[in-house]
Amino acid sequence: KSFKDLGIMAELCTACEKMGYKAPTPIQTESIPAALEGRDIIGLAETGSGKTAAFALPILQTLMDKPQPFYGLIISPTRELAYQISLAFENLGSTIGVRTAVLVGGMDMVPQSIALGKKPHIIVATPGRLLDHLENTKGFSLRSLKYLCMDEADRLLDMDFGPILDKILKVLPRERRTFLFSATLSSKVESLQRASLSNPLRVSV
Ligand code: AMP
Repeated sequence: KSFKDLGIMAELCTACEKMGYKAPTPIQTESIPAALEGRDIIGLAETGSGKTAAFALPILQTLMDKPQPFYGLIISPTRELAYQISLAFENLGSTIGVRTAVLVGGMDMVPQSIALGKKPHIIVATPGRLLDHLENTKGFSLRSLKYLCMDEADRLLDMDFGPILDKILKVLPRERRTFLFSATLSSKVESLQRASLSNPLRVSV
């Protein structure tokens, strides 16, 4: 199967080719068609499986139908992963002009607030800093968010981000799609899944 066979639009197929992706990986083959149909997804996959493109491509494609600021939020346990995810969105979205912002701890808040003022389509954030911006950056809200993706959910919970995630989930709209990716399925991950996903498709590679 090709990316086109999975329902990916021409502009994004071109971006995949430019990245050197010859064919979709198993996690991409299983999750992309369901994601494009509007399903929530819980993906059990490790780094290296191609999980980032598995969630980035459907988010980018649906963004193209209705481009708007603060369309997708990706939550990452670490700064390094947040920058990697943002780079993946920029590479895969290069043919469609996607704008991203990264909100991570240990960095000055002000440039991040300025980046939010430019109304990015996609925000990639670590939990604490995201909550800080939600509480303190004037004019920033996620009321119109369409997609939430929690990446490496097992690590997010091992790092005790659970209570912060609960606070973030409270201010996100209910009418959204949610993806959760995790290398392992612990009871903590399952309770986060119950609190945030609706009738998810479980995809495991
Ligand atoms: P990830 O598991 O998302 O961290 O991706 C691991 C690496 O695989 C990254 O360098 C991706 O750019 C790359 N990758 C993702 N999808 C594909 C694909 N379909 N074919 C080849 N490489 C890919």
